[in-house]
Amino acid sequence: MISSQARSIPFFDYPHLFLSEQQELTAIFRDVGMRGAFILQEDLVRFERNLAAYLGVKYALGVGNASDGLLLALRAAGIGQGDEVICSHTMVATAAAIHFAGGTPVPVECGDDHLIDPEAVEKAVTPRTRAILPTQLNGRTADMEALEVIAKGHNLVIIEDAAQTLGSRFQGRAAGSFGVAGAISFFPAKTLGCLGDGGAVVTDDDDIYERVLQLRDHGRGSDGEIVSWGLNSRLDNLQAAILDFRLASYDLAVERRRTLAGLYRNRLQSIRQVELPPGPADDSDHFDVFQNYEIEAERRDELRAFLKTHQIGTALPWGGKAVHQWRRLGFETRLPFTERVFERVLLLPLNLSLTQDDVHHICNLIENFYRRSC
Ligand SMILES: *Cc1c(COP(=O)(O)O)cnc(C)c1O
Repeated sequence: MISSQARSIPFFDYPHLFLSEQQELTAIFRDVGMRGAFILQEDLVRFERNLAAYLGVKYALGVGNASDGLLLALRAAGIGQGDEVICSHTMVATAAAIHFAGGTPVPVECGDDHLIDPEAVEKAVTPRTRAILPTQLNGRTADMEALEVIAKGHNLVIIEDAAQTLGSRFQGRAAGSFGVAGAISFFPAKTLGCLGDGGAVVTDDDDIYERVLQLRDHGRGSDGEIVSWGLNSRLDNLQAAILDFRLASYDLAVERRRTLAGLYRNRLQSIRQVELPPGPADDSDHFDVFQNYEIEAERRDELRAFLKTHQIGTALPWGGKAVHQWRRLGFETRLPFTERVFERVLLLPLNLSLTQDDVHHICNLIENFYRRSC
């Protein structure tokens, strides 16, 4: 037993991603390597089929990463020059995908749940608006019912950034399955992580599927003829084989995350200086996969430094800024509510290397921090 004083808990334990399943993964490397099956091979096709079935969508297509996935989805949906796309605070990748598709990202306020605020979306619609791009955040899906009403009313498409939300649901429907397309990330620290970069575009739409299929592979049609301009953004077959293996036990991984999130909630809910996300069973409309455990905390920076001296890793979302605060990208919007949230948010460790003891240890420290100082 490690004494609780000496315990060091990184925000994310990257070696664990390999070491926890070293034998199985090594067997996959060997199998794929012996077959020389590196690009667009049967392991990818199998993973795509299983992923689509898991989400209840018609198609899943492996791509290089979710950032590319968003770009490909936007291009496939016809977003281009002069089109405005409404988003909320998100990773810069989301806005960059809109930018490189030729469009203009229009960030709007988030709500109390930190997800895109449908009322703010409605207010931001202009004659140039073509799409809404909600970022499904920290494993939770936005109020898609309200967004679908707005999209219908203004003839907009919805494209979901579901990079953080594989398996998350709103009213029983999976994140990624609401709009014309959604993008999912398999970056190592995501809920379903591979050993490098990886992503998927999911869709029910035959045309979007065909276009993403071409866009990710140099514009090649099924007969190998070049039928359109394309890029190279394919999910490596080796990563697909790893992901297919991990997808088989993904529901258990989600349950672990939900248990740990519930434990955080039980332990922290009596501390008045912190605000917590809803618990795993608090709201029947939402099924959260808890990509992150995001709290709001008074004296956030001091708390973060205190945890660091006790060797607890934490993180600030997107490096500490909402996307519109990266002024050098040309944003001029002010979003006072979102900016206030960003002075208070803190991500606590939540991943599969974490034990229940680890969570108790982190919560003890947070309790000590506020007790010492009130
Ligand atoms: C991780 C993430 C991305 C980017 O995913 P990559 O696969 O690393 O390109 C985009 N949007 C959100 C919300 C993310 O969390």
